[in-house]
Amino acid sequence: EESASDDFTAGLNPGQKRAVEYRGPALLIVAGAGSGKTRVLTHRIASLIQSREAWPSQILAITFTNKAAAEMRERVEQLLGQASEGMWISTFHSACVRILRREAERFGYLKSFTIYDSADSRALIKRIIKGLDLDHLGLTPAGVASRISGLKNELTDVDAFARTANLSDPRDQAFLEVFRKYTQELNRAHAFDFDDLIGQVVYLFRSFPEIAALYQRRFRHILVDEYQDTNHAQYALIRELTRPVSPEVVAAAAFEYAPRDIAADGSIPGASLTVVGDSDQSIYAFRGADIRNIVEFEKDYPGAEVVLLEQNYRSTQNILSAANAVISNNFDRKEKKLWTAIGEGEKITGFTGYSGHDEARFIADEINELHNKGFGYRDMAVFYRTNAQTRALEEIFIREGIPYRVLGGTKFYERAEIKDAIAYLITVANPYDEYALRRILNAPKRGIGPMTEAQLSGFAEDQQVSFRDAMRRAGELGFGPKVRTAILNLSGILDHATSMALSGEVVDDDRDDLNPDPAAAPPAQDANVKVTPVSDILDYLMKQTGYLELLRNSKDPQDEARAENIDELLAVTKEFSRNNPTGTLVDFLTEVSLVAAADDLDSTSGTVSLMTLHTAKGLEYRAVFITGVEEGLLPHQMSADEAGGPSEERRLFYVGITRAREKLYLSLAMTRSQYGEVSVAMPSRFLQEIPADLIAWRQSPGMVTSRGGTQPRALNAQRGGQGSGFGGSNSYARRSTEPTSSVGFGAGGGSSAAVSEPASGNMRSSLDKWREA
Ligand code: ATP
Ligand code: MG
Repeated sequence: EESASDDFTAGLNPGQKRAVEYRGPALLIVAGAGSGKTRVLTHRIASLIQSREAWPSQILAITFTNKAAAEMRERVEQLLGQASEGMWISTFHSACVRILRREAERFGYLKSFTIYDSADSRALIKRIIKGLDLDHLGLTPAGVASRISGLKNELTDVDAFARTANLSDPRDQAFLEVFRKYTQELNRAHAFDFDDLIGQVVYLFRSFPEIAALYQRRFRHILVDEYQDTNHAQYALIRELTRPVSPEVVAAAAFEYAPRDIAADGSIPGASLTVVGDSDQSIYAFRGADIRNIVEFEKDYPGAEVVLLEQNYRSTQNILSAANAVISNNFDRKEKKLWTAIGEGEKITGFTGYSGHDEARFIADEINELHNKGFGYRDMAVFYRTNAQTRALEEIFIREGIPYRVLGGTKFYERAEIKDAIAYLITVANPYDEYALRRILNAPKRGIGPMTEAQLSGFAEDQQVSFRDAMRRAGELGFGPKVRTAILNLSGILDHATSMALSGEVVDDDRDDLNPDPAAAPPAQDANVKVTPVSDILDYLMKQTGYLELLRNSKDPQDEARAENIDELLAVTKEFSRNNPTGTLVDFLTEVSLVAAADDLDSTSGTVSLMTLHTAKGLEYRAVFITGVEEGLLPHQMSADEAGGPSEERRLFYVGITRAREKLYLSLAMTRSQYGEVSVAMPSRFLQEIPADLIAWRQSPGMVTSRGGTQPRALNAQRGGQGSGFGGSNSYARRSTEPTSSVGFGAGGGSSAAVSEPASGNMRSSLDKWREA
């Protein structure tokens, strides 16, 4: 074992040091939240590069979000004081897209294949169910999509499913039919869905060992953050990447491998693998994440070194105690000792609003207050369980002038006009994507109706050509002159845009960094390569088709907003080209489908971050607001039906709590309006799991009554017992004389909700009732 440069171990505790310096085939770091797992990965990468044990291009680091990837890259570059060209730090999905774009042509796909996000998949499935006339069997697009996704995460493709399915069940048979058609349609459109991105790379590696060898040889160090949330397909991918290259494959390779990589027996040993994780933070079981991947790591990688970390460097003792108390309610877990030297810190602030709006007002007031005390906006974050909860928050933030950003907000890309514009771009990049093409066939209206579309489609099928080719041959179909001209016009515009996109494309097949000798100079980036900026292509399309003009000339005020959105998209493409001077149309579309959908790259601006608890994983903020801590929301209603559901919800809450460094707020509302209906909410069972003396209630559940005077039954329910979050001196308990318990609604105090004496009742029994229901 050689020792790494100690530059990168200064300030680390002994366990962390060991994790940075260990050299061997496999390393597992299991530790609780905030114990420096991600930091260790970052230092380990820097140490490997600095000591010249690895070239940047030999590192593959997998993070959970694009944001985390960007942060890790930045940190490594900071530590090394140099750019880290060639290093792959990305999510599973981004890494796989990169591999697929290079290799797609080898198995019959365009390298400009389309990526279907989950909404696209659902839309396609919906069309298929309808087309096959299977609606009556009760198949829902969401249900089918989730089942297909589950199968793909297990690497079960349609043929494998067909072999095992029970086909005497008509519903299974119908599902199989839809699954088969879905697979065919994706194939035909040269499209991959999210799950394919991983699964197809595994398939590729297993089917073409010589391709796998390129990557197995290239990546000498593979590091995976948040390993507890990998699913089977991701696990298999890592297995493939860390496999040794057999002497036969080495010998048969088209180029010579660097001697230092080859073992005595002529093979290339498997890459060294480092994974870090925390089974208490596993929150993606619903997407097939498998905790066993971490539990069985030592079995999968015999001789693996295991490092445990126990010191939390992020949170105050109060926050950590709350987190520990909550998570200890999950049975079937290994007890962890997590401690902090930061000190007790402030108590957790609890607040109960009458409504979601009151809750939001309280949060806005607190944010203003914290900001006055010197907290930057970027130091604060608000978490929620469901996206629907953002509306009340956004309304108040806008009114109060609090700068904020919704992470993972996909709304912009869900707008019809933006989808149209993106569909145009997809059509240009991937002429086989018939769905994108059909979307824009008559948008803007150009007189190509459903009849015409059906004729084109029929012709394409008869002639065994693509829909796009059928359009080019519209002259053979006997259309009237107006329709024919409309089709040929559109076809001409698309062809021209395609030539624009291709003319500037960097022809390099991007394989240089698989060069067998990493010591060789990195491929010189040709600064003179001129790529047609995506904004030029989009601009051309929007102008030539009249799309933008029609919106601008419309009398409908909504169309004005739509035109502005198109302008906004143009601005987005311009920014993309500025940041990626050699970025192609396909690169842009990849970013739209992966980055925009999953999270947000811009973390540096001075804004309060709003996000779901799921998105919050791995992040940290000085002040954290967890909202909607109510039964039905957290734990979420849906989890009640699932085995292990409440435990997973508890882990989610644990993830949320452990994001906070100094200040933690837990808030709830007594009434929530959803889908236009107001319902009564009950405090979450998780609140009771936090020792009472850790929470200072600004306004506890028992202190709130409805405006009308009648108290909803659950609202005045009270638990008299000790040891729960509702008891103790800071709560509304009858014996309480604490002044905090009589503070009114939020710092602003502007609410009209009354503060009442707590009524009698028993929270526990309310909860029990809920559980029985
Ligand atoms: P999570 O489980 O939430 O992903 P983590 O285990 O990855 O957490 P990090 O994010 O790496 O933890 O670290 C938590 C915080 O503690 C970060 O701000 C990090 O910089 C800091 N930290 C970690 N180790 C040390 C150390 N030895 N000295 C000082 N600060 C540290
Ligand atoms: Mg981390």
